[in-house]
Amino acid sequence: VIVIPVVVHVLYNKEEQNISADQIRAQIDILNKDYRRQNADAQLTPEVFRDLAADARIEFRLASEDPKGMPTSGIVRKKTTIDFFGTDDRIKSSRMGGDDAWDADQYLNIWTGNLAGGVLGYASLPGGSPDKDGVVIRYNVFGNTGGAFGKGRTATHEIGHWLGLRHIWGDTRCGDDGIDDTPPQVAPSRGCPSGVQASCDNAPGGSMYMNFMDFTNDECTNMFTLGQAQKMRLLFNEGGLRHALLSSARADGIPLEDVIDPAAPAPGEIKLYPNPSTGTLNLRFNADPPYGDIVIYNHLGQAVKQLRITESVAHISTIDLANGVYYVRVGSSKRAYKFIMAR
Ligand code: ZN
Ligand code: CA
Repeated sequence: VIVIPVVVHVLYNKEEQNISADQIRAQIDILNKDYRRQNADAQLTPEVFRDLAADARIEFRLASEDPKGMPTSGIVRKKTTIDFFGTDDRIKSSRMGGDDAWDADQYLNIWTGNLAGGVLGYASLPGGSPDKDGVVIRYNVFGNTGGAFGKGRTATHEIGHWLGLRHIWGDTRCGDDGIDDTPPQVAPSRGCPSGVQASCDNAPGGSMYMNFMDFTNDECTNMFTLGQAQKMRLLFNEGGLRHALLSSARADGIPLEDVIDPAAPAPGEIKLYPNPSTGTLNLRFNADPPYGDIVIYNHLGQAVKQLRITESVAHISTIDLANGVYYVRVGSSKRAYKFIMAR
């Protein structure tokens, strides 16, 4: 699993454009679900395309460390005198009323703000200028905001471009997007098509209008293909244009596959109880000392608590943690143990 640290630059001229941390976290959640094919609407992929649908095994985490090594929420907020940003990249320049990019070898830069001309978002492609690298998304289609483009798929789509994907119709009549398992189609899809939409001899399935790289409304897209996933992941290989990001340690990342469900009877090194926790979490080591450090992460993979345990049973106060899902990791182990805060 590839984990990409993310910084979100929030540019606001009016208060409504100063989007909340919750809205930003909702967007990160959507990205993780879409790129891991854990999106709830994955089941809506038509049967004929289902075997082509891919878990791209790419995940996104708000940065926990800024370029100077200081702790960060991964969110930068800046008031601007600019009413509307264009697609001229001024939003990426502090001098021009935007906010400078963080090191593109270590972060995916996302800018949100008010965009002119009905633009929902745009992306830089791999191999461009590092200070312009990243994606720009209009503030009111970032996250789960409702409406035709209110399910956060503008960011899913633009990050697809940032990872080298082209539009599914190849940007020309029956064009080629360079991906074998996406059928040709005559033009972008609009709105929310259904059934088989035939064009460009693309029988039997017709157009793959539910692909994230089409122009279909958010609620009617639900997949990347295996070919698209492979193309995105190739960028991270040795010599690939996104390879440097693999060694970025600017976010705390827990690949989801390493999470151990406490309900499963797997022999773990610790036991957590009660789970859900209401304010105190007891942690019992099943091994001999020394016990060492444990780190508690929130559902975005950000460390929220770090503790040194010297007894085989520890009582950890979780009273300061909001309700939700958390993970505990022991020492340098890659395993993470899930628990829930519910009070
Ligand atoms: Zn596009
Ligand atoms: Ca194709």
